[in-house]
Amino acid sequence: MEDEKKSLNFIEQIIEEDLKNGKHKQIYTRFPPEPNGYLHIGHAKSICLNFGLGEKYNGKTNLRFDDTNPVKEDVEYVDSIMEDIKWLGFNWENEAKYASDYFDQLFEWAVEFIKQGKAYIDDQTAEEISATRGTPTRPGIESPYRNRSVEENLDLFMRMKNGEFADGQKVLRAKTGMDSPNMHLRDAVMYRIKHANHHRTGDKWCIYPMYDYTHGQSDYLEGITHSVCTLEFENHRPLYDWFLDQIYDSSKTRPRQIEFARLNLNYTVMSKRKLLELVEKGFVKSWDDPRMPTISGLRRRGYTPESIRNFAEKVGIAKRDNVIDVALLEYSIREDLNKKAQRIMAVLEPLKVVITNYPEGQSEELEAINNPEDENMGTRNVPFSRELFIEKEDFMENAPKKFFRLTQGAEVRLRYAYFITCNEVIKDENGEVIQLNCTYDPLSKGGKSPDGRKVMGTIHWVSANHAIDAEVELYDRLFIDEAPDGHKETDFKEFLNPDSLQVLKGCKIEPFAKSAKPLDKFQFERKGYFCVDTDSTSENLIFNRTVGLKDSWTKQNK
Ligand code: ATP
Ligand code: MG
Repeated sequence: MEDEKKSLNFIEQIIEEDLKNGKHKQIYTRFPPEPNGYLHIGHAKSICLNFGLGEKYNGKTNLRFDDTNPVKEDVEYVDSIMEDIKWLGFNWENEAKYASDYFDQLFEWAVEFIKQGKAYIDDQTAEEISATRGTPTRPGIESPYRNRSVEENLDLFMRMKNGEFADGQKVLRAKTGMDSPNMHLRDAVMYRIKHANHHRTGDKWCIYPMYDYTHGQSDYLEGITHSVCTLEFENHRPLYDWFLDQIYDSSKTRPRQIEFARLNLNYTVMSKRKLLELVEKGFVKSWDDPRMPTISGLRRRGYTPESIRNFAEKVGIAKRDNVIDVALLEYSIREDLNKKAQRIMAVLEPLKVVITNYPEGQSEELEAINNPEDENMGTRNVPFSRELFIEKEDFMENAPKKFFRLTQGAEVRLRYAYFITCNEVIKDENGEVIQLNCTYDPLSKGGKSPDGRKVMGTIHWVSANHAIDAEVELYDRLFIDEAPDGHKETDFKEFLNPDSLQVLKGCKIEPFAKSAKPLDKFQFERKGYFCVDTDSTSENLIFNRTVGLKDSWTKQNK
């Protein structure tokens, strides 16, 4: 029991305390995305945390769209967010919620604030408001409009609502004071004018509540007990509480804001604004480009929900900002696919091999293991014949001693097949090797040595006449810098890796993969984990490399 306690993260400790002392009978969390982009791996962390807490403590979790900024929001994003959360394996309570569902209530409360002398209409421009806000050590300057009468404020607020003013002409501000050391408490803006069509409320509103005013009140309306958010909101917490103080009914649940450190990954940018820029300017194909750190990109790349959930678990919950090595994410998918993925043989850059002592027109089926990590996955038959393809890089003409693959005069094992020896190298007019003539040892069937003689290398292959053609996409990191958006002087796009995508055509794949469907996952022996692309068809098979078999990147570059 003690041991179990120790392993709780600080949020779980708070929750267990609240349940133990009866503050809450059941916990209620929420995940509150703004529908202004696709979700990324950082959001996945927050989803796993919020929904995970709900599951762990038999509580509930809402999905609530924080849709207070109509200019940047879109239903396309709403749909993708729901898809991603479901795909990760989580379910929200009832229907998805929207902050915009509460616009009427928020407006009524704002009117109450005005009536109680706690809010006023400010005619200053955004620049003036910002310039008079002061600094943490110097108080701000009160707005000349701060002491308007309740009647005048009410009248102006109604006229704001009725669309009589232009964007930016007026705002509603809370009288939180101008001298708090917390800048967020300096007469916080509650409403601004935006003549914009909202994806849910249409043209009903031309004033929209600010995030800070909306968030806590929405939590309160939904009965949220623990409002978990990232550290940048720590300084907003006094304002969150100030707004709640004004409306809180002690017979109801009062939400508590708790902050944790956001997930940062090296070699990655995670701001939706920057990800949107990559999409809009064509640096990537789309939001779900397999190089993107979006959940949809990871899915298309071949990540499984389990691997992402395990990753979130491994990262843990911290109170201080830190940067996680993207290699940990890659480790998580490798670990999961190692257990699950069907093994097949695929030759990405084919070199023709003719087995000169194998009868023409003949072929046979050889047994291959589907997954050495999982006996239940059984075996399959792989066709073998006189003409094969091997990987170009598995042959070297003037090989160094330690080259344990195919070279002239040497013998290697073809995985699950036979020992072969290379006798003749055929080149084209440019001197490029285009064919190897080899002989096989019929007694070495299954790749077993007939007489105890050893071969150093085992290579993969496919039968030329049986193989299916495919296109294969290989990825490298999207950025060449560890912290692409950490440079003040240089735009993050300067650090884009020009070689992040390599497309290989004419790859030869074992026929087993013929009926593979989009998102089916395989291990290509010796080559890594691959996933059928969502644009793949039976006429035009496309595989994406999810991840290599080992962390080759670290090796090459460090
Ligand atoms: P971004 O900065 O990427 O645009 P955001 O914070 O503006 O993200 P929201 O849609 O507001 O995006 O985020 C929804 C929830 O996800 C919030 O509770 C936010 O704190 C959380 N979240 C966003 N990014 C991360 C991250 N990198 N790690 C953990 N949680 C995150
Ligand atoms: Mg946000």
